[in-house]
Amino acid sequence: MTHPPTSVLARYAHGGQGLDDAALWSVEAHLDTCAACRAHLAAHTTPDTRDLLDRVAASLDQAIGTGLLPARQPVRALAPHRRWFVWTLLPWLVMTVAVLGCGVLLDSVAPSLPSLVLLLAPVAPLPGVAVAWSRRFDPAGELIAATSAAGPTMVLRRTLAVLVVILPALLLAGVSTGTSLALTLLPCLAFTAAALALGAFVGVRRAATGLGALWAAAVLLPSVAAHSLPPVLRPGTALAWGAATVALAALTVLAGPRFRRLTSGI
Ligand SMILES: [Zn+2]
Repeated sequence: MTHPPTSVLARYAHGGQGLDDAALWSVEAHLDTCAACRAHLAAHTTPDTRDLLDRVAASLDQAIGTGLLPARQPVRALAPHRRWFVWTLLPWLVMTVAVLGCGVLLDSVAPSLPSLVLLLAPVAPLPGVAVAWSRRFDPAGELIAATSAAGPTMVLRRTLAVLVVILPALLLAGVSTGTSLALTLLPCLAFTAAALALGAFVGVRRAATGLGALWAAAVLLPSVAAHSLPPVLRPGTALAWGAATVALAALTVLAGPRFRRLTSGI
Protein backbone atom coordinates (compact mmCIF):
# COMPACT_ATOMS: atom_id res chain seq x y z
CA MET A 1 0.00 0.00 0.00
CA THR A 2 1.37 3.43 -0.96
CA HIS A 3 0.60 6.06 1.66
CA PRO A 4 0.05 9.69 0.62
CA PRO A 5 2.94 11.98 1.62
CA THR A 6 2.58 13.94 4.87
CA SER A 7 2.43 17.22 2.93
CA VAL A 8 -0.60 15.96 0.96
CA LEU A 9 -2.33 14.78 4.17
CA ALA A 10 -1.66 18.19 5.75
CA ARG A 11 -3.20 19.97 2.74
CA TYR A 12 -6.17 17.61 2.84
CA ALA A 13 -6.66 18.46 6.55
CA HIS A 14 -6.70 22.14 5.61
CA GLY A 15 -9.57 21.76 3.16
CA GLY A 16 -7.66 20.29 0.24
CA GLN A 17 -6.02 23.57 -0.84
CA GLY A 18 -3.80 23.02 -3.88
CA LEU A 19 -5.03 19.43 -4.45
CA ASP A 20 -6.94 18.61 -7.63
CA ASP A 21 -10.07 16.41 -7.65
CA ALA A 22 -8.13 13.26 -8.55
CA ALA A 23 -5.68 13.74 -5.66
CA LEU A 24 -8.55 14.45 -3.22
CA TRP A 25 -10.39 11.36 -4.38
CA SER A 26 -7.34 9.12 -4.03
CA VAL A 27 -6.59 10.45 -0.51
CA GLU A 28 -10.22 9.84 0.51
CA ALA A 29 -10.19 6.30 -0.91
CA HIS A 30 -6.92 5.56 0.88
CA LEU A 31 -8.15 6.96 4.21
CA ASP A 32 -11.11 4.56 4.08
CA THR A 33 -8.76 1.61 4.42
CA CYS A 34 -5.66 2.97 6.24
CA ALA A 35 -5.89 3.54 9.99
CA ALA A 36 -2.29 4.83 10.15
CA CYS A 37 -3.03 7.66 7.71
CA ARG A 38 -6.29 8.48 9.51
CA ALA A 39 -4.19 8.91 12.69
CA HIS A 40 -1.74 11.15 10.77
CA LEU A 41 -4.66 13.17 9.44
CA ALA A 42 -6.01 13.66 12.97
CA ALA A 43 -2.62 15.13 13.97
CA HIS A 44 -2.90 17.73 11.16
CA THR A 45 -6.41 18.97 11.88
CA THR A 46 -6.73 22.71 12.54
CA PRO A 47 -8.04 24.09 15.87
CA ASP A 48 -11.19 25.22 14.00
CA THR A 49 -11.83 21.67 12.77
CA ARG A 50 -11.24 20.18 16.24
CA ASP A 51 -13.59 22.77 17.72
CA LEU A 52 -16.26 21.89 15.13
CA LEU A 53 -15.86 18.13 15.81
CA ASP A 54 -16.13 18.72 19.58
CA ARG A 55 -19.34 20.71 19.12
CA VAL A 56 -20.82 18.04 16.80
CA ALA A 57 -19.90 15.28 19.29
CA ALA A 58 -21.44 17.25 22.20
CA SER A 59 -24.67 17.91 20.30
CA LEU A 60 -24.88 14.26 19.18
CA ASP A 61 -24.38 13.10 22.79
CA GLN A 62 -27.14 15.41 23.90
CA ALA A 63 -29.51 14.31 21.11
CA ILE A 64 -28.87 10.63 21.82
CA GLY A 65 -29.30 11.14 25.57
CA THR A 66 -32.62 12.97 25.28
CA GLY A 67 -34.09 11.44 22.11
CA LEU A 68 -36.43 8.51 21.73
CA LEU A 69 -34.99 5.02 21.56
CA PRO A 70 -34.91 3.74 17.96
CA ALA A 71 -37.78 1.38 17.14
CA ARG A 72 -36.62 -2.19 16.76
CA GLN A 73 -37.06 -3.46 13.24
CA PRO A 74 -38.01 -7.10 12.81
CA VAL A 75 -34.97 -9.08 11.67
CA ARG A 76 -35.57 -10.47 8.22
CA ALA A 77 -34.14 -13.95 7.99
CA LEU A 78 -32.00 -14.92 5.03
CA ALA A 79 -34.00 -17.09 2.61
CA PRO A 80 -33.07 -20.70 3.52
CA HIS A 81 -32.00 -21.66 0.00
CA ARG A 82 -29.43 -18.82 0.00
CA ARG A 83 -27.70 -20.44 2.95
CA TRP A 84 -27.12 -23.54 0.86
CA PHE A 85 -27.05 -22.60 -2.77
CA VAL A 86 -26.57 -19.70 -5.11
CA TRP A 87 -28.09 -20.07 -8.58
CA THR A 88 -25.00 -18.73 -10.32
CA LEU A 89 -23.40 -22.05 -9.27
CA LEU A 90 -25.59 -24.08 -11.61
CA PRO A 91 -23.75 -23.44 -14.92
CA TRP A 92 -20.41 -24.18 -13.21
CA LEU A 93 -21.66 -27.47 -11.82
CA VAL A 94 -23.12 -28.44 -15.20
CA MET A 95 -19.78 -27.57 -16.84
CA THR A 96 -17.84 -29.66 -14.29
CA VAL A 97 -20.12 -32.67 -14.80
CA ALA A 98 -19.79 -32.23 -18.59
CA VAL A 99 -15.97 -32.14 -18.32
CA LEU A 100 -16.06 -35.32 -16.21
CA GLY A 101 -18.31 -36.89 -18.88
CA CYS A 102 -15.67 -35.99 -21.50
CA GLY A 103 -13.05 -37.59 -19.23
CA VAL A 104 -15.07 -40.82 -19.16
CA LEU A 105 -15.40 -40.77 -22.96
CA LEU A 106 -11.67 -40.12 -23.46
CA ASP A 107 -10.80 -42.90 -20.99
CA SER A 108 -12.75 -45.34 -23.14
CA VAL A 109 -11.58 -44.16 -26.59
CA ALA A 110 -7.93 -43.47 -25.67
CA PRO A 111 -6.87 -46.13 -23.16
CA SER A 112 -3.20 -45.29 -23.73
CA LEU A 113 -3.72 -41.99 -21.89
CA PRO A 114 -3.65 -41.98 -18.06
CA SER A 115 -7.20 -41.96 -16.61
CA LEU A 116 -8.56 -38.45 -17.04
CA VAL A 117 -11.24 -39.20 -14.44
CA LEU A 118 -8.49 -39.76 -11.85
CA LEU A 119 -6.56 -36.69 -13.01
CA LEU A 120 -9.62 -34.43 -12.97
CA ALA A 121 -11.11 -35.71 -9.69
CA PRO A 122 -8.99 -33.51 -7.34
CA VAL A 123 -9.86 -30.30 -9.18
CA ALA A 124 -13.48 -31.19 -10.04
CA PRO A 125 -15.00 -29.48 -6.96
CA LEU A 126 -12.85 -26.34 -7.23
CA PRO A 127 -14.91 -24.30 -9.77
CA GLY A 128 -18.06 -24.88 -7.70
CA VAL A 129 -16.33 -24.13 -4.39
CA ALA A 130 -14.84 -20.93 -5.87
CA VAL A 131 -18.24 -19.72 -7.11
CA ALA A 132 -20.20 -20.83 -4.03
CA TRP A 133 -18.56 -18.23 -1.80
CA SER A 134 -17.55 -15.37 -4.03
CA ARG A 135 -18.89 -11.83 -4.04
CA ARG A 136 -18.08 -11.63 -7.74
CA PHE A 137 -20.46 -14.47 -8.66
CA ASP A 138 -23.19 -14.05 -6.03
CA PRO A 139 -25.22 -10.89 -6.77
CA ALA A 140 -26.22 -10.77 -3.08
CA GLY A 141 -22.77 -11.79 -1.81
CA GLU A 142 -21.92 -8.53 -0.04
CA LEU A 143 -25.36 -8.33 1.59
CA ILE A 144 -25.11 -11.94 2.77
CA ALA A 145 -21.56 -11.43 4.05
CA ALA A 146 -22.93 -8.70 6.31
CA THR A 147 -25.65 -10.91 7.84
CA SER A 148 -25.32 -12.96 10.98
CA ALA A 149 -25.90 -16.12 8.92
CA ALA A 150 -22.55 -15.60 7.14
CA GLY A 151 -19.42 -17.30 8.39
CA PRO A 152 -17.97 -20.80 8.50
CA THR A 153 -21.34 -22.56 8.71
CA MET A 154 -22.57 -20.99 5.50
CA VAL A 155 -19.28 -21.69 3.71
CA LEU A 156 -19.53 -25.35 4.76
CA ARG A 157 -23.20 -25.58 3.75
CA ARG A 158 -22.52 -24.18 0.29
CA THR A 159 -19.48 -26.45 -0.12
CA LEU A 160 -21.64 -29.41 0.86
CA ALA A 161 -24.17 -28.37 -1.83
CA VAL A 162 -21.32 -28.48 -4.38
CA LEU A 163 -20.13 -31.89 -3.16
CA VAL A 164 -23.68 -33.30 -3.30
CA VAL A 165 -23.49 -32.80 -7.09
CA ILE A 166 -19.79 -33.49 -7.72
CA LEU A 167 -19.27 -36.63 -5.57
CA PRO A 168 -22.06 -38.72 -7.22
CA ALA A 169 -20.82 -37.56 -10.66
CA LEU A 170 -17.28 -38.68 -9.73
CA LEU A 171 -18.62 -41.93 -8.30
CA LEU A 172 -20.48 -42.63 -11.53
CA ALA A 173 -17.42 -41.69 -13.62
CA GLY A 174 -15.19 -43.89 -11.43
CA VAL A 175 -17.53 -46.89 -11.64
CA SER A 176 -18.01 -46.58 -15.41
CA THR A 177 -14.26 -46.38 -16.10
CA GLY A 178 -13.21 -48.91 -13.45
CA THR A 179 -10.82 -46.53 -11.66
CA SER A 180 -10.12 -46.81 -7.94
CA LEU A 181 -13.01 -45.15 -6.12
CA ALA A 182 -10.81 -44.23 -3.15
CA LEU A 183 -8.36 -42.45 -5.47
CA THR A 184 -11.27 -40.73 -7.22
CA LEU A 185 -13.11 -39.46 -4.15
CA LEU A 186 -10.40 -38.85 -1.51
CA PRO A 187 -8.31 -36.39 -3.61
CA CYS A 188 -11.55 -34.53 -4.40
CA LEU A 189 -12.29 -34.17 -0.67
CA ALA A 190 -8.66 -33.28 0.14
CA PHE A 191 -8.60 -30.48 -2.45
CA THR A 192 -12.00 -29.20 -1.25
CA ALA A 193 -10.69 -29.00 2.33
CA ALA A 194 -7.44 -27.41 1.12
CA ALA A 195 -9.38 -24.74 -0.82
CA LEU A 196 -11.39 -23.88 2.31
CA ALA A 197 -8.40 -23.94 4.70
CA LEU A 198 -6.33 -21.76 2.38
CA GLY A 199 -9.41 -19.72 1.47
CA ALA A 200 -9.85 -18.66 5.09
CA PHE A 201 -6.64 -16.67 4.65
CA VAL A 202 -6.55 -15.56 1.01
CA GLY A 203 -10.20 -15.90 -0.11
CA VAL A 204 -11.87 -19.10 -1.34
CA ARG A 205 -11.97 -18.04 -5.01
CA ARG A 206 -8.25 -17.22 -5.01
CA ALA A 207 -7.35 -20.43 -3.15
CA ALA A 208 -9.43 -22.64 -5.48
CA THR A 209 -8.01 -20.97 -8.59
CA GLY A 210 -4.44 -21.30 -7.30
CA LEU A 211 -4.82 -24.95 -6.33
CA GLY A 212 -6.47 -25.78 -9.67
CA ALA A 213 -3.72 -24.04 -11.64
CA LEU A 214 -1.03 -25.73 -9.54
CA TRP A 215 -2.52 -29.19 -10.06
CA ALA A 216 -2.94 -28.61 -13.80
CA ALA A 217 0.62 -27.35 -14.25
CA ALA A 218 2.43 -29.74 -11.91
CA VAL A 219 0.44 -32.97 -12.35
CA LEU A 220 -2.33 -33.04 -14.96
CA LEU A 221 -0.57 -31.66 -18.04
CA PRO A 222 2.81 -33.44 -17.44
CA SER A 223 0.96 -36.75 -16.90
CA VAL A 224 -1.04 -36.42 -20.13
CA ALA A 225 2.16 -35.43 -21.98
CA ALA A 226 4.08 -38.40 -20.51
CA HIS A 227 1.16 -40.84 -21.00
CA SER A 228 1.51 -42.13 -17.45
CA LEU A 229 -0.26 -41.70 -14.12
CA PRO A 230 1.59 -39.44 -11.69
CA PRO A 231 3.11 -41.09 -8.57
CA VAL A 232 0.59 -39.23 -6.36
CA LEU A 233 -2.32 -41.11 -7.98
CA ARG A 234 -0.81 -44.58 -8.20
CA PRO A 235 -2.35 -47.47 -6.21
CA GLY A 236 -1.24 -47.39 -2.58
CA THR A 237 -1.54 -43.63 -2.17
CA ALA A 238 -5.17 -43.73 -0.95
CA LEU A 239 -4.09 -43.86 2.69
CA ALA A 240 -1.97 -40.72 2.28
CA TRP A 241 -4.90 -38.94 0.57
CA GLY A 242 -7.17 -40.02 3.44
CA ALA A 243 -4.72 -38.67 6.04
CA ALA A 244 -4.33 -35.41 4.06
CA THR A 245 -8.13 -35.04 3.89
CA VAL A 246 -8.50 -35.46 7.67
CA ALA A 247 -5.63 -33.05 8.42
CA LEU A 248 -6.92 -30.38 5.99
CA ALA A 249 -10.48 -30.75 7.30
CA ALA A 250 -9.17 -30.17 10.85
CA LEU A 251 -7.27 -27.12 9.59
CA THR A 252 -10.47 -25.82 7.96
CA VAL A 253 -12.32 -26.12 11.27
CA LEU A 254 -9.51 -24.27 13.09
CA ALA A 255 -9.39 -21.51 10.45
CA GLY A 256 -13.22 -21.35 10.24
CA PRO A 257 -13.68 -18.27 12.46
CA ARG A 258 -11.74 -16.21 9.89
CA PHE A 259 -14.75 -16.56 7.56
CA ARG A 260 -16.65 -14.28 9.92
CA ARG A 261 -14.51 -11.37 8.74
CA LEU A 262 -16.14 -9.49 5.90
CA THR A 263 -12.98 -9.26 3.83
CA SER A 264 -11.88 -12.84 4.39
CA GLY A 265 -12.87 -15.81 2.38
CA ILE A 266 -15.28 -14.10 0.02
ZN1 LIG B 1 -1.89 5.04 4.66
